[in-house]
Amino acid sequence: MAHCAALLDALNEERNDRLQHFVEWSPDRRRVTLTFYPFMGLWAHKFMRFSKDLNPDDPMLYRLPDEWLPGDLLAPARYILTETINFRLNNHVHPCLYPDSRGLYFKTDSLLSGLYVSLALEALGKGEQRALCKREGCGNHFTIEHGSQKYCSERCNKRAYEQRKRDKSSVTV
Ligand SMILES: [Zn+2]
Repeated sequence: MAHCAALLDALNEERNDRLQHFVEWSPDRRRVTLTFYPFMGLWAHKFMRFSKDLNPDDPMLYRLPDEWLPGDLLAPARYILTETINFRLNNHVHPCLYPDSRGLYFKTDSLLSGLYVSLALEALGKGEQRALCKREGCGNHFTIEHGSQKYCSERCNKRAYEQRKRDKSSVTV
């Protein structure tokens, strides 16, 4: 989990120095080795190698995807992240419809699976977004629940509205 979160951070910040711990290109850039950090021995293999030159004697060598540009770290690192998350979600998470049919939620069998769901949403850019309340003097941080939300609470929303109304009338008087 920690490696997975570190990888997501490195991807989001495009930190090549950190992505190099996961993705290593050969000097001629025809081959790339991806490192999966195993968690309690669950991985069948720790490394995956992709190459432009396939070798029939080496069935563990995969064809280098065309969309991975030689030397690029981001696309291969994203592959590690998605493979790891998919492995973690497989058979542990079940989508369910809310009783009012307005959306889907994910039922998980453990706290760890729940954390991987959060990570998956984060990877999609749909993780929790926090913001500072826009009402002067409030100073609260809050979780944005809908796109245009500016205030931490209904109370601040009302107060800010009343403040705007007061400001307006004091200008026009
Ligand atoms: Zn507030």
